[in-house]
Amino acid sequence: MRMMCPHCKQNAYTRHSGQLTTTSRETIFYCRNYECGHVFSAVTEINRTISPSATPDPTVVLPMSSHIKRALLQQQLQSMPSADYQPRHGGFVTGDLFAAMPAAG
Ligand SMILES: [Zn+2]
Repeated sequence: MRMMCPHCKQNAYTRHSGQLTTTSRETIFYCRNYECGHVFSAVTEINRTISPSATPDPTVVLPMSSHIKRALLQQQLQSMPSADYQPRHGGFVTGDLFAAMPAAG
């Protein structure tokens, strides 16, 4: 990842980064301009969901993009039949798209 140095406007490059929370990461940048030499940190934060996860972690709370048609999505989730599939990439908390949802009354 690279970012523009705020002082000299030249490219700065990543030297170190670390996860702060499940939705944010701090990155240390070094300016490539030796006459400037600015070293700075930046925080990258996930600020919204553009497409919902098929395996959501119920502890992750993010605003959903306003373009998502929530009512239509809910209607599809309730009416579409299931098809067998085994996920190949781990890290799932619930493994079930509906596990975090309250039961329909
Ligand atoms: Zn600079």
